[in-house]
Amino acid sequence: MTTLLFYEDQYLKEARARVIKIEDNVVWLDQTIFFAESGGQESDQGFVGGIPLVDVRPDDFGHVLSRAPNFSAGDEVHLVLDWERRYRLMRLHSALHLVSIAVKEILGDLEIIGSHVGADKSRIDYAFMGRISDYFNMIKEFIEPYLKESHEIIVYRKPENPQVRIWKMEQWEIPCSGLHVRSTKEIGQIELKRRNLGKGKERIEVYLKE
Ligand SMILES: [Zn+2]
Repeated sequence: MTTLLFYEDQYLKEARARVIKIEDNVVWLDQTIFFAESGGQESDQGFVGGIPLVDVRPDDFGHVLSRAPNFSAGDEVHLVLDWERRYRLMRLHSALHLVSIAVKEILGDLEIIGSHVGADKSRIDYAFMGRISDYFNMIKEFIEPYLKESHEIIVYRKPENPQVRIWKMEQWEIPCSGLHVRSTKEIGQIELKRRNLGKGKERIEVYLKE
C-alpha cells in the first residue's frame, strides 16, 4: 500500500519516499505526493529520484518513469512535483465544480455525460437540447463573486461512507476524488467556451485566464 500524501496535503511539493519495488521503468513507493488519474483529473508529473515521472497508474500506484531507474528497492528517493502543472489542475478542477453548481442553479439537474480535468482546460458535458453558451453570461455572473472573494473549499468524508470524498463549498457538496484549491479566490479569472458534441450534447470548456 502506498500512503497518499496528496490527500493529507494537496500543496505538498516535495517529499522523501522509500522504494518498495521496481519493474523496468515502473516504481512503487511507500508514500507518494503524485496524484494518479481519478475522477477525470489527469495524473501528476514531476521527478522521482531525479528521473522524469510520465504517469502514475491509478490501479496500483505504479510510478511510470521516462527510463529504468539507477536506484534500487530499499533506497530512499526524493520526490519533486511539477507544481505549476498540478496547481493549474487544482484550479481548473475547482473551477469546473463552480461551473457545474452554476449550471444546476440556472438550468436544474441536467444529466452530466462526461467530464475531464487537464492542465490546459477542464470540461463538463451535458445532455442538453439548445446552446449552453446562451447561459454563459448567467453562469459567469453566478461564479464571479466566488472568483473575486475567498470562499473556503473543504473536502471531507462522511463516517457512514468513509471511502467517498466530498467536496464542499458553502451549501454545495459534490462527491469527488480529485484535488482542489482551499479557496475559490485561488482559481482566478476564467474563460468559458462551448462545443457542440452532436445533437443534444453540449460541452463547456473552462480555461484559466492567467
Ligand atoms: Zn471533481
